[in-house]
Amino acid sequence: MTIIGIDDTDSRTHGMCTTYVGHLISEELQSMGKDVSDVFLIRLNPAAKHKTRGNASVAIHTSASPSTALEVAESIVFPNAADQDPETNPGIVVCPEHPSEEVSDFTLEVIHTLCDIEDAKTLIEDNGYEYAFRGNGRGLIGSLAAVGAGEAIEDWSYEFISYREEEVRGSKRQFSHDALFDAADEFYPEAWDTVDRVQGDAVCVPHTPGPILFGIRGDYTDAVEGLTYEVEGTTEPVESRQMFKTNQGTDVHLQDGEIGSMENDKAYKLNGTVSEEPYTVEGGHVFFSLKDGDSDLDVVAFEPTKHFRNKVRDLRSGDKLTVCGEITENTLKLEKFAVREQNTTKKVNPTCPDCGNSMSSAGANAGYRCKKCSNHRDEKDKVEVERSLEQGWYEVPPCARRHIAKPLIRGGFDDMTHPFK
Ligand code: ZN
Repeated sequence: MTIIGIDDTDSRTHGMCTTYVGHLISEELQSMGKDVSDVFLIRLNPAAKHKTRGNASVAIHTSASPSTALEVAESIVFPNAADQDPETNPGIVVCPEHPSEEVSDFTLEVIHTLCDIEDAKTLIEDNGYEYAFRGNGRGLIGSLAAVGAGEAIEDWSYEFISYREEEVRGSKRQFSHDALFDAADEFYPEAWDTVDRVQGDAVCVPHTPGPILFGIRGDYTDAVEGLTYEVEGTTEPVESRQMFKTNQGTDVHLQDGEIGSMENDKAYKLNGTVSEEPYTVEGGHVFFSLKDGDSDLDVVAFEPTKHFRNKVRDLRSGDKLTVCGEITENTLKLEKFAVREQNTTKKVNPTCPDCGNSMSSAGANAGYRCKKCSNHRDEKDKVEVERSLEQGWYEVPPCARRHIAKPLIRGGFDDMTHPFK
C-alpha cells in the first residue's frame, strides 16, 4: 500500500483547501482503476505559527505504485495550490509501505510541538520516501505527519464533506437552516458539532470562501452520511463528497503537564486551585488564575466561547480544577475544565448570639466584638455558599470548538460531563 501525504495547499487568495485537493487526488486515482482505502484528514498543532486554515493535512492510502501516486499528486497539488500566493508552500510525501516508527513518532511531534522543515526533510530522505514541494517546503512537515498518522493515532472520528459546484464558489452558501437543525437533532450524538443550538449557528457550514458546502462530523460513517443525505435537496447542488477518517474531536493535542513547567505553543491538561477569581475585561474575555504549589498560571476564556464564560465566572477561589488548552504567552486558552472539588464555604464576621447583629472588628488582631452586647469572638465564622457548578467537565460550545478538541458528548472522560449540545 502506498500513502500520499499532502499539506499546505490552501490559499487564502485563491480559496483552495487541502481537503478538496486530497479529494481530487482520490477521485483521479480511482478513475485510473486504483483502489483508495482511506483518506485521512489530520489536524496538526493548532499553535503552529504558519498554520494554514485549521492547520490540516491529508493522507491518501492507495493501491497505486509510488511513482504513479507522486505523478498524480503533483499534477493536482501544484496547479491547484495557487503557489503564486507566497504564503502557500505545498508539499507532497509518498511512502511506499507502512510508515516506520520514527515517522509515526514524528506525527505526534507535529501535533504536540512546532517542528522545522529540515527535520522533516532529513526524515523523509532517511526513509527513502519520494517527495516534492514548492516555495520553502514547509508543507513537507504536515505531509510527513499525515503519512505517519494511521499508525500514530488511536482515536478516530469521521467527517463527510460536501463540496460546492465550481461556478458558485465564493457566493453565499444556500441551505435550509431548519432542515439542517432538524437533521442535526436526529443524528445527535453520533454526529456532533453540526450546529450550535444556543447560538443558533450552523457550525458545519464554513464562512470562508472555498469549495466546502458543509462538513458533518461524528463517530460513525453511517451517522455522518445519514445526516448528509437527510438534508439533500434542501441545499444548493452538491458537486461531490468525500469521507475522511480524522483526528478531529479527539484531544490528541493535549499533553499531561504541571503548572510551572509548561512551554508556549503546546497544549496541556493541568491541575490546580483557583487563586484569583474570574474577572471580565473589555471585549468580554474572562480571566482567572490557578495555583499549584508555588507556581501560578493565567487562564482565559475568550469572548467567542460565549455562554461557556458563565460557567467560568461561577468559579471561586479555592476550587480545585483540571484545565485543558493551549499555552500562548504564558496564558492557557481554555477549551474545557473539570471541577474536582468546590470551595463551598466563605468566612464572614461572626453573628452575635444574643442580638443577632453582625459583629465588627475590634482592631488589628483583636478579633470581633458586638458593639451592643460586648460579646467577643476571636475568628470569623464559616458559612456555606450555594454553588451553581457541579462536579465534572464543562466545555466550550460547538461554535467555539477547535477542530482537534474532543466534545464531551463523545465520552471517555474521567469524571461526570456537562456537554453543550
Ligand atoms: Zn449583640
